[in-house]
Amino acid sequence: MIACDFDGTITRDDTLHLVVERFGDGRTWRALHPELLAGRISVEAAMEREFATVRADRATALAAVREHAGLRDGFCEFLAWTRQRGYPFFVMSNGFRTIIRDFLTHIGEPELDVYSHDCRFDTDPPTIVWAERGTVCPLCNRPCKRHDLTSVRGDARVVYIGDGLSDRCVAQAADIVYARADLAEYLAGLAVPFRPFDDFHDIQTDLTRTADAA
Ligand SMILES: [Mg+2]
Ligand SMILES: [Zn+2]
Repeated sequence: MIACDFDGTITRDDTLHLVVERFGDGRTWRALHPELLAGRISVEAAMEREFATVRADRATALAAVREHAGLRDGFCEFLAWTRQRGYPFFVMSNGFRTIIRDFLTHIGEPELDVYSHDCRFDTDPPTIVWAERGTVCPLCNRPCKRHDLTSVRGDARVVYIGDGLSDRCVAQAADIVYARADLAEYLAGLAVPFRPFDDFHDIQTDLTRTADAA
């Protein structure tokens, strides 16, 4: 099975960041991001503080994401390939279902399995609705995406694809990891093996080689 992050992985830009920069206070993001990477503030606390600055209705926020988030090259072809091969595909995100669903529908993939938080735009500021992710993860001490992977993996071999902070624990539970950006740096620092990628063509080529060699 394949589990894949959304923000900065399927999309080129982080959609929460995009919404905060356009409709909230981008300075909050820039001030909190180093704190986050250094582990001095939790992801949830940072998201609450950033999102509290957002003033946008749902339609406006979704339209901005559709227009500006950008789709990483090769994603739709890669999905077609996973279906051909019979590999189940799951989106596992620390972002918001409303935004993810809308973007995936926009690119012609309305029915992917999505595990994520959500947000409501009928309040001002919007309200984050946290996903149920079980008890705390032994690695990060918070409920995290590792829970979602555990709930669906069964005895499947797991390929995980990601780029950031929220992928750190779940990536280490996978059999094969494709990583870029912050996640690649982090795993390299721990000497955890991963395969670098720029786009989904890279992953499809590499996984085809791996599967055909097996
Ligand atoms: Mg990401
Ligand atoms: Zn964790």
